[in-house]
Formats: sequence, structure tokens, C-alpha cells
Amino acid sequence: MKQYIVTKTSCIMCNKTSKNGIIIRGKYICSECETKIVNSDINTDFYEYYKNHIKKNISLSLIKENIEL
Ligand SMILES: [Zn+2]
Repeated sequence: MKQYIVTKTSCIMCNKTSKNGIIIRGKYICSECETKIVNSDINTDFYEYYKNHIKKNISLSLIKENIEL
């Protein structure tokens, strides 16, 4: 999984701008949301929320790459 540190971009999850985060295939996710995603159980609302966002923004294959570690 490639990760890039960026300086200022809007998070696709929370729309906040954050100093730290990752860009996945051109879509930015802040470190706060990334932590939630990484630590979230797949049965939580947050996971569903994330999944729905990613469906709109990134391909489904990417979800597998990141969630099913
Ligand atoms: Zn965020």
C-alpha cells in the first residue's frame, strides 16, 4: 500500500483539512479518519460509512487492500 504525506488537502471522509494524512489513488484521507478506519470493526457504522464513501470515490478493490490486511 502506497502512502504519501501531504500538507493540506480536504479529507474525503470528514472534509476537514489536516496536516497529516494519506492519499490513496488521488483521494485524501486524514490521519484521524485513517486511524478510525484501521481500528474499526467491519460491523461498525463507521465502517459502513467509510465503505459507502469509498465506493463513490475509489474502487472496491482498494477497500480490500486496506481493510483486509
Ligand atoms: Zn478525515
